[in-house]
Amino acid sequence: MDCWICTTCGTQFAQSQTPPTGCPICQDKRQYIGHEGQKWTTLASMQTGGFHNVFKEYEPHLTGIGTEPSFAIGQRALLVQTDQGNVLWDCISYLDDDTLTAIQQRGGLKAIAISHPHFYTSVFASQGPLAPGSRISSCSAGKRTRMSYFGRPWLPFSLS
Ligand SMILES: [Zn+2]
Repeated sequence: MDCWICTTCGTQFAQSQTPPTGCPICQDKRQYIGHEGQKWTTLASMQTGGFHNVFKEYEPHLTGIGTEPSFAIGQRALLVQTDQGNVLWDCISYLDDDTLTAIQQRGGLKAIAISHPHFYTSVFASQGPLAPGSRISSCSAGKRTRMSYFGRPWLPFSLS
């Protein structure tokens, strides 16, 4: 089973044999479905499809993490390094061992904060290896993506 990722918005969903019937984020009236219809991918497909992440230090203790070539809406995460622990501000869809290792080498994560539904992306895949037991912020209650992936309740979010 795979965790399917919507190629339009970059959100990763819970494991299933087949892709979800639709992406609730792209089906929302404020979003759109691509001209070629709903399309899905997986992390495994992306990992063999030429994607990689680039780390760019904007200033000391503030590093941007983005995917090349650009994916979905071009999300980027920010790694904020502090003396009290690191925070990942937003997330990206594409993750691989190089990315996880690079974050661990910078001190790992204490918390993950998501500012908008489009940035949940693959946050639940990253939380396990990077910040086990950490809290993930929530926009508000409502739509769910991979909330039950790790067998305990996650904070849901809503587009409304
Ligand atoms: Zn979508």
